[in-house]
Amino acid sequence: MTGAPDGTEQREPRATEQREPRATEQREPRAGAQHERQDGAGLPDRFERLYTPHRMAYIRGEGKPTDDSCPFCEIPKGSDADGLVVARGADVYAVLNLYPYNSGHLMVVPYRHISDYAELTAAETTEVAVFTQHCLRALRVASGAQGFNVGMNLGHVAGAGIAAHLHQHVVPRWGGDTNFMPVIGGTKVLPALLPQTRELLAEAWLAT
Ligand SMILES: [Zn+2]
Repeated sequence: MTGAPDGTEQREPRATEQREPRATEQREPRAGAQHERQDGAGLPDRFERLYTPHRMAYIRGEGKPTDDSCPFCEIPKGSDADGLVVARGADVYAVLNLYPYNSGHLMVVPYRHISDYAELTAAETTEVAVFTQHCLRALRVASGAQGFNVGMNLGHVAGAGIAAHLHQHVVPRWGGDTNFMPVIGGTKVLPALLPQTRELLAEAWLAT
């Protein structure tokens, strides 16, 4: 075990490891996820375990809006950094998804609390489209995105997490960005932290 100057720990090379696993050994902690061997009964096997305790809040539904609070209405009231806002327009804004499918998962959201796309004004409809295009350009510049999934889930039955306030998803895609982890492990592995991603995209937005 070596301690890096920034406080992160790095694994020793496995090829030379010839020792019993320590009960409380911790390896490579990052972004709330940790590889860890813990006290308890059982025998080591060939699998590694990626513990993601930070995801428990999502599983439990913490942070989901109650009837009288809407995160998409609250976000624009705070700073860009606090809300992970990438850009603000006249009628809509672009924000990073707190529960991204991929690094750089953006949403285009009207300021107005409205659930039905058909009820957007012409100006809102236009700016949603213009901002969606701008998301594509910024993501290509910032992250070299090779493809995108773009779209809306309207209504809970259609899969909307926050159905009361419509939002357009823009998810960047790269070759090989999907592996067994979400399918078998129920876990998305994300290589970048959200505040860093927001800064990168906010810069790319101004440059595109
Ligand atoms: Zn709202």
